[in-house]
Amino acid sequence: MSERKNVYFFYKKEDKLVEKVESLLDFAKDHGFIIVEDDTKANIIVSIGGDGEFLQAVRKTKFRSDCLYAGIGVDDTLSLYCDFHIDDREKIIHAMKESQIEVRRYPVLEVIVDGKTTFKCLNECSIKSSIIKTFVIDVFIDDLHFETFRGDGMLISTPTGSTAYNKSVNGAVVDPMLPCIQVSELASLNNNLYRTLGSSFILSDKRKLTLKIVQDGNDYPVIGIDNEALSIRNVKQLEYGLSETPIKTVKLKDNSFWEKVKRTFL
Ligand code: NAP
Ligand code: MN
Repeated sequence: MSERKNVYFFYKKEDKLVEKVESLLDFAKDHGFIIVEDDTKANIIVSIGGDGEFLQAVRKTKFRSDCLYAGIGVDDTLSLYCDFHIDDREKIIHAMKESQIEVRRYPVLEVIVDGKTTFKCLNECSIKSSIIKTFVIDVFIDDLHFETFRGDGMLISTPTGSTAYNKSVNGAVVDPMLPCIQVSELASLNNNLYRTLGSSFILSDKRKLTLKIVQDGNDYPVIGIDNEALSIRNVKQLEYGLSETPIKTVKLKDNSFWEKVKRTFL
């Protein structure tokens, strides 16, 4: 993919953005780029907005591994998935033009629901009880029955998702150069009857995690995939692993993952 010319822009068509976006699109056209309306024809997919917008851009374009994703921020502070600010037009075009551009790969989580439907996540998949009672999940690592969880729910996150919801529940921040998934608890009940590990744990890309939801009447959990809710009602089993195909983003000099973490949190 030496020639990246076809660009698809993903953004909310809001009044306050339109002017800046149109001027950026014109600027890109002047530099020889073709703005496409069909994302399947694009070899660069650009989201304009925050992390939420980037997550949607990747989801709506089906987690393509054969194109480059880039996030353009519009606020004063840049979000984790945003490498550019909308006012930095030269920097954006320069990075898109660079034929020898270096790419960074972000691991993607794959979820199989009840052995048939597959979903992908860039941040995380969360599973939570939808009623007031706790719910019970049998947790398997590969074929090992690891623990029986009872509580609010669980969170399975990617390295780039580790700074999102996962961080709010005291999970570790993980370098995306490590292909792995992190499992965190949401308010586990721990007493002489119920026991869970109690800390987050990280699984290698060779492992499979299976959650079997105990069918005790509280088996209508709310399942979140990044910033969307799954519309499947009665779920029995979820299998998690890393996707074989990561997504690719632009690698710039001043935007290593740890620079982003520092700029966002410190
Ligand atoms: P949102 O409610 O706007 O997101 C909450 C915040 O998380 C926003 O500030 C968002 O940044 C930020 N964020 C998203 N992905 C991130 C990442 N990988 N690293 C660091 N910060 C990140 O909803 P949203 O923008 O659609 O994002 C959805 C995400 O929100 C979910 O995937 C989940 O991780 C997170 N979330 C967190 C909690 C919690 O911490 N208790 C609860 C629910 C969901 P922007 O402002 O740039 O969008
Ligand atoms: Mn948001």
